[in-house]
Formats: sequence, C-alpha cells, structure tokens
Amino acid sequence: MNGTGRWGLLLGAALLAAGCGAVPSSAPPIGGGSAQAPRPADVSELTAPPSTATAAPASCDPTASLRPTGPLPAVGQAPAGSTMADIVARGRLIAGVDQNTYLMGFRNPLNGQLEGFDVDMVREVSRALFGDPDRIQFRVLTSADRVPALEEGKVDIVVRTMTVNCERWQKVNFSTVYYQAGQRVLVPTSSDVTGIDGLGGRKVCATKGSNSLVNIANAASKPVPVQVADWTDCLVLLQQGQVDAVSTDNPILAGLAAQDPYTKVVGDPFTSEPYGMAFPKADEDFVRFVNALLEQLRADGRWAAIHQRWLGTPPAPPVASYRD
Ligand code: GLU
Repeated sequence: MNGTGRWGLLLGAALLAAGCGAVPSSAPPIGGGSAQAPRPADVSELTAPPSTATAAPASCDPTASLRPTGPLPAVGQAPAGSTMADIVARGRLIAGVDQNTYLMGFRNPLNGQLEGFDVDMVREVSRALFGDPDRIQFRVLTSADRVPALEEGKVDIVVRTMTVNCERWQKVNFSTVYYQAGQRVLVPTSSDVTGIDGLGGRKVCATKGSNSLVNIANAASKPVPVQVADWTDCLVLLQQGQVDAVSTDNPILAGLAAQDPYTKVVGDPFTSEPYGMAFPKADEDFVRFVNALLEQLRADGRWAAIHQRWLGTPPAPPVASYRD
C-alpha cells in the first residue's frame, strides 16, 4: 500500500471536517479582536468527570465470554431460529464500525471503502455466515454511539476498538478478546512531555463515550479532559495547539501518528484495554458463534495475517477466556 498519498488525503479530510460548523458563535467583528482558530464541532472541556468515571465499578471478569457450543457450523448450517439464521435470511450482516481511525476502521479515500483491522474482523464474521466476506451493511459509529446502537437493535455487531469492561457488560455482550491494547499519549514532536504524568493541568483530548476519556479524568496527574466526536478531531486540535496531548489506545495513536510526522507517541501504556466485539444483550447464540470463529482465526493464522496487514508483526493472539 502506498501510504504517503493516503495520509495526505486523510489529513485533508480531517481538516475539512474540522472546518464544518466551526464558526465560533462569539467570533470577533472583522478587523477587531484576535483571531480564534476554528475548532471541530462538538468540542468541550470537561468540568466534571464523565459519569462512568465516578460510578462504582461493577465487578466481573470482563475478558471472560460465552463458550462456543461446538465447532463453527458450516456456512448455511446455523440452527433454525438462531440470530445467525435470521441474519442469513436478511441477506446481510449489519455491523457498527469506525470510519475515522486509520489502521483500525477508516474510509480509504482512494476507493471509498471501509478498511482496517476491525473491518477485516467483520469481514471474517460475514465469511463465516455467508461464505462471502462482503455481505455487510456498515453503520459508522462514534465511540458514544456504540452501546446505544446495540441497545436499540440498530446493528448486529460492533467491532470498533471497544474495550470490554464490567460496566459495558451490563448493557451488551462481548466476544472473547481479539486485540490487547493499552492507553498511551500522543504529543507534538516538539513537546517535552514523556507520558500521562507530565500532563497535570494540561488539556488532553479523547472522544466522548470512550474509556480513554474516563482514564484521562482518573489519571493521578489530573489533566483537563477535552472531549470530541472522532479521533481525527483530537488530531486537529493537537495540530492547532488547542490541546497539549491526545490519549487513547496504542493502535489508535499509531494511526494518528502515521498521518502526522510532527507527532510522537510517548510513555508506557498506563491501562489495559482488551478489545471485544460487542453484541445486543439478547444475542448470546451469536456471541458463542463468533467465539467459535475467533478460535479458528487464532489457530489457522488468519488473525496473525490481519494483524500483519494493518499493525505489523503479530504477537501471539489473545488467549480466549470463558465464563460459560
Ligand atoms: N478502547 C476505548 C473504548 O472502548 C477507546 C477507543 C474508542 O473509543 O474508539 O472506549
């Protein structure tokens, strides 16, 4: 893949998006006052921690999912009346993904297609259901859209850099862990910040509805969390000097850094962010089906090949853990 053109285009798209609806309501009259940099839509500084940062954490093992009932059934052999049979009868899988996170879920501006590690995972689910990796209706979701989209039955599955945690398990079901991430920090190359500890009192960007925002709010150094809709909005704010850092999972930061050579990822991971595919609470049969598929992907090298394609040399895939 020829990256350079793509980065430029992605970055251009991000900057263009940032321009939309960005006229400040308090814009100074022409010729008077100082210029204010345009900001992406829906930017806000948090004055109180996100509600999930203060809620008592439900206790569970979030990485333990539902055990497969057996080996993955052959294409077309899903039991009658199952969620899988309903999806096959519909003719397409409805999947929630991102279109703003280069490497994980992004729209390739050269061909208009959604691509990335998470998108390839969805394609494997489609292949298991239909024998065809392309029987998918994608729905683009922000971080904040994920749980509501599942609760409202708008999607069959969400594969979107989503950390499994006990609070979310109360509302949705998760597959076994398919990627192990950790939260780090992105700063301009000129910055002397070396990690989250150096960001006390400084503005740090993450998306609304993400775990990352909660982790920033909970950091001992007490940064000021700034929330936006999409990860590319954080990159724009960093480029404009309106935030001091972006902090989220390492693969997301790797995608942002790949689009802007004047940024760098610093510090060790300061959280564990195991990713799971998420499902409506009622669809336990589909979770077990996908877990059987994940067993195959880990064993037959497809997981490693997808990792190699987007994220480089693969480690051993995350080990499946079950709660039965
Ligand atoms: N893994 C984190 C989460 O699930 C951040 C990723 C994101 O929101 O895209 O909230």
